[in-house]
Amino acid sequence: MSQQQNISDLEARFQSLSAAEGLELIAELFPGKVVFSTSLGQEDQVITQLIASQNLSIQIFSLDTGRLFPETLDLLSRTEAKYKTQIKVYYPTTSSVENLVSEIGINGFYESVENRKSCCSVRKVEPLKRALAGNDIWITGLRAEQSANRSDMKRIEWDESNQIIKYNPLMDWSFDQMIAYINEHRIPYNPLHDQGFVSIGCAPCTRAILPGEDARAGRWWWEESKKECGLHSR
Ligand code: SF4
Repeated sequence: MSQQQNISDLEARFQSLSAAEGLELIAELFPGKVVFSTSLGQEDQVITQLIASQNLSIQIFSLDTGRLFPETLDLLSRTEAKYKTQIKVYYPTTSSVENLVSEIGINGFYESVENRKSCCSVRKVEPLKRALAGNDIWITGLRAEQSANRSDMKRIEWDESNQIIKYNPLMDWSFDQMIAYINEHRIPYNPLHDQGFVSIGCAPCTRAILPGEDARAGRWWWEESKKECGLHSR
């Protein structure tokens, strides 16, 4: 069966399933080969709760770029404690970071899109590849309404750059639906969300947004280009 046929079949099968049902089925279909990347955002916290509450055999991991907010790392620790689970943390390689900082400076990502992409590549993209290697399914917390760039996404997608099937269980969740779920289940979340931060990444590259601004407007706000870091190239 071709990869495209495989994806289409999975898409049809998962179409009518809830996020909880879909996560349960994907763990069953691909035992030991399913991983979930969390950045500790609200969407990701919902998925962590869904995985933990059903005791699913899905490895949860996070990328510590070395430039995260302390609030994010604190949330990681609180989440592990609350759900009695371990979030595996991947780091960039020391030599790559040293070379990068030698070349562009400690905050060189502000100076050009090229520098910024180099930094994201070293601190995020390469560790992500290591985390995904050898697995069949990559679960993400992407929602279609997060930005125009994500509006044509599918529940099941082929990720060409990482050669893996991506499953987006919250694809059709609205923001309000997500917040209601977080409140109902008392899911821990980043306190920065209460200060106007919506999409939270590295501290120097994230700012709060104003009411009505695109959810991704607070990421790399000094750039005009699409607000993606290379993790979810589509
Ligand atoms: Fe570097 Fe900013 Fe990308 Fe983080 S978000 S990896 S600090 S450029």
